[in-house]
Amino acid sequence: VGEGGEITYKKIQSSQIMGSIQLGIQHAIGGLASKPERDLLMQDFMTVETTNFPHEGSNHTPAHHYSEFKFKTYAPIAFRYFRDLFGIQPDDFLMSMCSAPLRELSNPGASGSIFYLTNDDEFIIKTVQHKEGEFLQKLLPGYYLNLDQNPRTLLPKFFGLYCYQCNSKNVRLVAMNNILPSSVKLHQKYDLKGSTYKRKANKSERQKSSPTYKDLDFMDHHPEGIFLEADTYTALTKTMQRDCRVLESFKIMDYSLLVGIHNLDEAQREKTESRKRTDSGQSDDETEGEPKRSGLNRTRSINRQRLVAHSTAMESIQAESEPIDEEEDVPPGGIPARNARGERLLLFLGIIDILQSYRLRKKLEHTWKSMIHDGDTVSVHRPSFYAQRFLDFMAKTVFKKIPSSLKHSPSKRK
Ligand code: ATP
Ligand code: CA
Ligand code: CA
Repeated sequence: VGEGGEITYKKIQSSQIMGSIQLGIQHAIGGLASKPERDLLMQDFMTVETTNFPHEGSNHTPAHHYSEFKFKTYAPIAFRYFRDLFGIQPDDFLMSMCSAPLRELSNPGASGSIFYLTNDDEFIIKTVQHKEGEFLQKLLPGYYLNLDQNPRTLLPKFFGLYCYQCNSKNVRLVAMNNILPSSVKLHQKYDLKGSTYKRKANKSERQKSSPTYKDLDFMDHHPEGIFLEADTYTALTKTMQRDCRVLESFKIMDYSLLVGIHNLDEAQREKTESRKRTDSGQSDDETEGEPKRSGLNRTRSINRQRLVAHSTAMESIQAESEPIDEEEDVPPGGIPARNARGERLLLFLGIIDILQSYRLRKKLEHTWKSMIHDGDTVSVHRPSFYAQRFLDFMAKTVFKKIPSSLKHSPSKRK
């Protein structure tokens, strides 16, 4: 946060970054329309297109009131191909990215990245470090070889890599899928790594209205774990295994499983509670969870088909969806689960923050320490140690197969 309370990144006002990148993306997508579709070539991964955006506009850029800037689009043809792989039409991508102001999210991470969410809730734009941007560029061919073979994955889906340049500062940005729907109240959120070394949300995070908790908090809140039907459990753990194998092959570490939990029973109680309050003439203010939406907007965002194919948690793990309760006011695609009390949950999840490679040693100092803490002694095996510890934690501590006692007498155990 800069002077005067404005959010800044590298001393550039966030509102200026948002507006400028929308102009840049709009220009980049528009420019692609004139390039016919064709097979991908290896060199498509290496191309970078640069456009100047002077104040007064130019033959192919509009006039604007931001500071003058340059906008770089990395691998435009390759990313077009990837968006196509996920069924995203160019017009839809343009609409999502550019037709409405972006929303800035508060970031619980330590890295200082900024996150922007598109108004339709589909995409997240994250600022990344120079090294991370470079790493993604190198990763692209192999990463998408994998995605092409198997689009059902919990790995992040990257839809664009850009660089906004202003006053000789570079702001690198990746566009990816949004994992947590903002139209549904998430009663708990966790960023899990499978480490217990200092993995606790700090005080300022815990004071937020919707904190992102960590591994130790999870074990505290859910000592018995979260219960899934056997088939769902198997689909989820298999998907994570396959995904971790890919990450390990690229020597990637420090990633997390992001888990958002919507508690259907709790939501029901909140509804009843708020009705009671309204009946007794009290105000109905803070009942609907975070972003206050108009009734119309709510239903539309909940019922609309997702833009990105295979992008819900349920589709990502390739499990059959048995809708928990059809009239519930939640979007489809959450993974049905139960907590130890037998309450019905919907899980929204995905693997995030995968651009830290083994080579970025300095940034990873904390990761080293946590692995030594957990008994790792052989440094060359670290990416595989990280993956194994991650998978063990998810498959044994976080997620459990539902015991029959819970399955047959839901909500009875109190
Ligand atoms: P650090 O490197 O310090 O861990 P970071 O700046 O790299 O942080 P991430 O770890 O990528 O940030 O993400 C931080 C938080 O942002 C996550 O815990 C999550 O709450 C949110 N977030 C990140 N990616 C997504 C996504 N794709 N969808 C929804 N929320 C996300
Ligand atoms: Ca992280
Ligand atoms: Ca990071």
